[in-house]
Amino acid sequence: MTALFQNFKRYESLVNVVHLSCCWSTLGRLAAASEQDWFNDNASAAGLAALAAKTAAMLTENPTSGDIRARELANIAHGAAKSGRAAALGDFWTVLANAVEPRLGECNAQELANTCWAFAKAGVAHEGVFNAAARVLCTGASLDSFPPQELCNVAWAFSSVGRVDDKRLFAALCRAAGRSVESFTTQGLTTTLSSFAKAGVTDLPLLRALATQVHRKLAQCNAHDLAAAVWACAKLGVGDAALFGAAAAAAERHSDRFTPAGLANVVWGLAKSGHCASTVSCQSDCSNRLTPLTIAVDSQLFARAFEQPIHRHLAAFNAQDLSSCAWSMAKATHVSPPLCEALSRAARDCLETFNTQDVMNFAWAFVKLGVADAELLTSCAAALASQRLDELSAPQIANVAWTFATAGQMDTALFSSLARAAQTAAVDFTADDLASVSWAFANANQLDERLFKALASRAATLIDEFDEEVLDNVEWAFHKAGHRALVKQLRQRRKGRAGTEPGGQQLALPGASKCGRIVIAGGGIGGAAAAVALQHRGFDVQVLETDSSFDARKQGYGLTVQCADALQALGIDLAQDDAPSTSHYTFSADGHILAFFGEAFGGGKVRDTGANDTGSGRFVHLPRQALRHRLLEKIAPNTVRWGTKLRSFEPTGNGGVSLTLTDGNTMEAALLVGCDGIFSTVRRQLALAGDALNYVGLVVVLGISDAVFPLCERRIFETVDGTTRIYVMPFTTTSTMWQLSFPATEEVARNLTKDVAVLKKDILRRCGDWHEPIPSLLRSTPLECMSGYPVYDRPVLEPETLRPLSRSDARVTLLGDAAHPMTPFKAQGANQALRDAVLLADTLAECVAQHGPQAGLVAALPVFERKMLRRSSRTVIASRDKAKQLHTRLALQPGRKGQRDAADLNVSEAIQTLQARGISASSATDPRGLDAVVAKCISGGVDEPAPEAQLEPCWGWAVRDDAEEAAWHKGTVLRIRKSGKMVVQWQDGSTAILAEDFVQPRAKKRKH
Ligand SMILES: Cc1cc2nc3c(=O)[nH]c(=O)nc-3n(C[C@H](O)[C@H](O)[C@H](O)COP(=O)(O)OP(=O)(O)OC[C@H]3O[C@@H](n4cnc5c(N)ncnc54)[C@H](O)[C@@H]3O)c2cc1C
Repeated sequence: MTALFQNFKRYESLVNVVHLSCCWSTLGRLAAASEQDWFNDNASAAGLAALAAKTAAMLTENPTSGDIRARELANIAHGAAKSGRAAALGDFWTVLANAVEPRLGECNAQELANTCWAFAKAGVAHEGVFNAAARVLCTGASLDSFPPQELCNVAWAFSSVGRVDDKRLFAALCRAAGRSVESFTTQGLTTTLSSFAKAGVTDLPLLRALATQVHRKLAQCNAHDLAAAVWACAKLGVGDAALFGAAAAAAERHSDRFTPAGLANVVWGLAKSGHCASTVSCQSDCSNRLTPLTIAVDSQLFARAFEQPIHRHLAAFNAQDLSSCAWSMAKATHVSPPLCEALSRAARDCLETFNTQDVMNFAWAFVKLGVADAELLTSCAAALASQRLDELSAPQIANVAWTFATAGQMDTALFSSLARAAQTAAVDFTADDLASVSWAFANANQLDERLFKALASRAATLIDEFDEEVLDNVEWAFHKAGHRALVKQLRQRRKGRAGTEPGGQQLALPGASKCGRIVIAGGGIGGAAAAVALQHRGFDVQVLETDSSFDARKQGYGLTVQCADALQALGIDLAQDDAPSTSHYTFSADGHILAFFGEAFGGGKVRDTGANDTGSGRFVHLPRQALRHRLLEKIAPNTVRWGTKLRSFEPTGNGGVSLTLTDGNTMEAALLVGCDGIFSTVRRQLALAGDALNYVGLVVVLGISDAVFPLCERRIFETVDGTTRIYVMPFTTTSTMWQLSFPATEEVARNLTKDVAVLKKDILRRCGDWHEPIPSLLRSTPLECMSGYPVYDRPVLEPETLRPLSRSDARVTLLGDAAHPMTPFKAQGANQALRDAVLLADTLAECVAQHGPQAGLVAALPVFERKMLRRSSRTVIASRDKAKQLHTRLALQPGRKGQRDAADLNVSEAIQTLQARGISASSATDPRGLDAVVAKCISGGVDEPAPEAQLEPCWGWAVRDDAEEAAWHKGTVLRIRKSGKMVVQWQDGSTAILAEDFVQPRAKKRKH
């Protein structure tokens, strides 16, 4: 470097542009080789200043000289940018830009790419240069001849200087990149992908191809490339569980090598993708020893790989990095008080540098983790209130309202700014926007009159688009806000659907059968419902079901059904099958109440039993087989071909589909609907891009018990310990279903679930010392009424993935679990399948009426799929999130669920009061009943001592344990029901309900 400057000084008066360009190139190369560690003396500063001054003078004196060619200018720019002192060169860049701009058309690919790269690297977003470059790059097939490195440099340059709106340029870049996907270097690949992410490129096939290459090259990625790749794939929503799983493992290896921004990006990307779980290793085995599973899905990875590096980089984090780390921590459900405290302190020091998004994410994360301190949130509320909120989207507005309401921070200025922002945006709200914003404000008890008026007038125009869930939330919110007229309209909307018969179902479409036969693969909930809905509309339907008969397989679990609109459209009345619950509790493992809600406390959901809907929105619980039976009995005889399994399908020449069955037979269909569940044959054959089973890191064990326990009567309860969770609900009016879940690796889950006896031992050790009746409930469940399985879902499907252009007119579609399998933790799978079935029939009927039988079928499918996937993808994601949360310490936070109609009730305070008064799961044996005790306590009338339980010693006549015949057993009468039946507790703590004649006072035993 010294020699370079000395020579330059000696010959300065003689140099021409070619010499100068050589000097700059050499300078750039030497600087890069010394890792920019050359500029540490006065001689270097003077040498650089002299070189820059001479260059500027030459370019200014004779800017149009023929000697000044594009090549030399590109070299000068490139060398200057690589010098590492670009910012010190000041006006030099303006002079250079003026000289470069008119000559860009003369550049070859490398010169053009280098020039763009250099200006971007120097942080000089010269409009003229970038406009001219974009023009040249988009002319003809200019970019097609660019090698991958040059494509990468151009993409990086334009995205770095914020020229992400150059849609034409990015489209041309995508086309060119698509031709050389496999030739990118690792760095070129990750840089190009992250540039595309910044530009919001939507070319999914290309992005997926790039993500696949990233996966292949992951082992060669350094920390920088890895961070760029993970961030980009998560931002673009490409990459599958396998990619993110491998990336999480690589991130753990590199965790000490990330820059602060790189660390924040990689943590954000892994949390956003939600796939870190696949790398979690639980030490466990399926022997008889207790499996020491202490992990909480993503949280363990976060603790292992990221917590210490985040602590180390805290001082260097900018606002966005801090916010990303906090947000990721919450998404990974990682509750670490020291890290929260450190992040909170760091944020407080620079809150004024946070933009709106950063503050929102930061505050949300702390509230979500239940660790927000009031001082931090007050500062966040003030910071938000001082910013422009009118650019927030509806979900963002709802999120902010939820965050601050949940934390009890009702900052007047903030809520008023939010209300004004929502009021202005309301005219453009979608049905979902309207539901989330009105719910969030009502939930926060912020019933701003002007806002609700604006929301009400928007609601009136959207009313026909509301599905059941939206109706439920909107009705509740406007009821609370006192908009009686709208509530009445909403209730009417709930009751009647245009074109329905008095029974509820849709009218038949004349000529529907001309479409040809619709074959449904799978006779589960979705398939049976689709058959009902399609036959109502007059379509010719055949269902193929693998099982040899309705009862061929044990299908023992219960469902909670919440979609009254779909039931109504199907004409199904579940009143006689409903096993109702009137209260819902969450307990800790020692029985403390963590949350409660329900009808028993004078509000909450009112139950709804189906076609005779009273507009009440109450849920129904029933065995899956009972619902399936109700559906199948509505189908015309011989519609279902039992014992018939679809093997494969292919399109026929006439637009239909030819089906091959596993018995070798074939059949023709005008349309094939895959309702064949999570392991769908139809979906597998569609070979959808990026499709794979996603193991969510959990085992679920199911059981059904006939034993009677007071806590299980007409009640749902769940008990959590931060890792394991049990959910207990009525199966029928005389039996109870439980669902126990805990984290495990896929291998452990598979091994453990092979043998229910081993599984039972494992769960009894896990929950054996939990509050009663959990141990007794588990013990009382016969092995043949138990089953276990690893929990899977699949990536959320995009409509374009399900129906790519190459298959745009395919007469094949999916619904139910085949289209959108989800974890069972939000109890939504069957509800979604029922709604899909009605939607399919409605859309087909509408399109066939409009376009005729054949064109109508083809036109209907993309419309149906778009609507179905838009609705169901929310629940897939929410179910996955809930799966995660329920198995972490987050589940232990008191009051996470509350009585939503009880505006005056402070749930946290109520829970503290209940704990202080010793009211817990064991209060279920109180003669007044648990709900009455809780209701009395929260209404303030608590001090009255509980009446002495009339624990009458008795003999009860019953079949118990493994005995085959009834006998007299010792017990105590806990309670006498209104019917006269007695609740008897046996000496092992379990209970039974016996008729009066079967109970005798202990003293007067007599022969029965
Ligand atoms: C423990 C548990 C609790 C749940 N709780 C709830 C709840 O409370 N609320 C709720 O809404 N959802 C719940 N779900 C989810 C719900 O059960 C499913 O989402 C729903 O059953 C999906 O219906 P489906 O028809 O799409 O698939 P499935 O019910 O799986 O039916 C698929 C059918 O296709 C058949 N089949 C498969 N392959 C072929 C083939 N090649 N040819 C012919 N037939 C084939 C199968 O035999 C099966 O009968 C729960 C799930 C579980 C596991």
